[in-house]
Amino acid sequence: MNNENKSVHEFDFQLICEYFSTIERQGPGSPKMTQKALSFIPNLTENSRIADIGCGTGGQTIVIAQNFPGQITGVDLFPLFIDAFNANAAKQNFQNRVKGLVGDMEGLNFRDEEFDVIWCEGAIYNIGFEKGLQSWRRFLKPGGFIAVTEASWFTEERPSEINDFWMDAYPEIDTIPNKVKQLQNAGYMPVAIFALPESCWTEEFYKPQMEMQENFLKKYAGNSSAQELVAYQRYEVQMYEKYKEFYGYVFYIGKKI
Ligand code: SAH
Repeated sequence: MNNENKSVHEFDFQLICEYFSTIERQGPGSPKMTQKALSFIPNLTENSRIADIGCGTGGQTIVIAQNFPGQITGVDLFPLFIDAFNANAAKQNFQNRVKGLVGDMEGLNFRDEEFDVIWCEGAIYNIGFEKGLQSWRRFLKPGGFIAVTEASWFTEERPSEINDFWMDAYPEIDTIPNKVKQLQNAGYMPVAIFALPESCWTEEFYKPQMEMQENFLKKYAGNSSAQELVAYQRYEVQMYEKYKEFYGYVFYIGKKI
């Protein structure tokens, strides 16, 4: 099997975790876009609670904590990420109100109506956009908000090479109007929708990886899984460079109704 046909989920999870744990973000995004999304959510106080699902090492969580006075619970499947998350929170002195827990987004044991906001940057694809929106809704208070980023098509049509790439990686990718419809159907009023700028991929996500890849390859010299993982990430960057006008990440912010 060549790399073009191999999805990232087929690689060794431990290796993937190690690869991504050394960089600040595990998906496209930026502090500015996190702040922008947060600015659409009114009336947050120190009694408010946010769940950050698929939080990774907490790149976006720290930004939320810097701009929001309440409690944040981060959840991620991988203990290595949660260890880094809690260390990052402590470094910023947020340990009293920012806590990371190991958990599966497909089986969260939160209480009904526990949160004012559910946050999820670059991670809802793991459960699927529609399923995530539907199954997490009950954890929100009435009138609570959901803010997620999701891979979306910018055009109705696109070259088959990039279409095939995404059909393999995440077939649920869809156009923005279709995603908005799914948000509405799941019981939310669309509040704000905006695409992440290119720099959220290039500067914030791909550049830190490129800087780290040589060391990673050196550390795992002779390990074919590590070589394939890096080759796949480089292929993904090439796809982005070639086809970035056709797709990107979009922030979808909705209010529970
Ligand atoms: N929000 C972070 C991380 C995005 S990467 C950022 O934007 O930087 C996607 C994250 O989802 C990873 O940290 C991965 O470990 C996590 N993840 C994958 N499957 C999951 C699941 N079933 N439950 C919880 N987290 C999961």
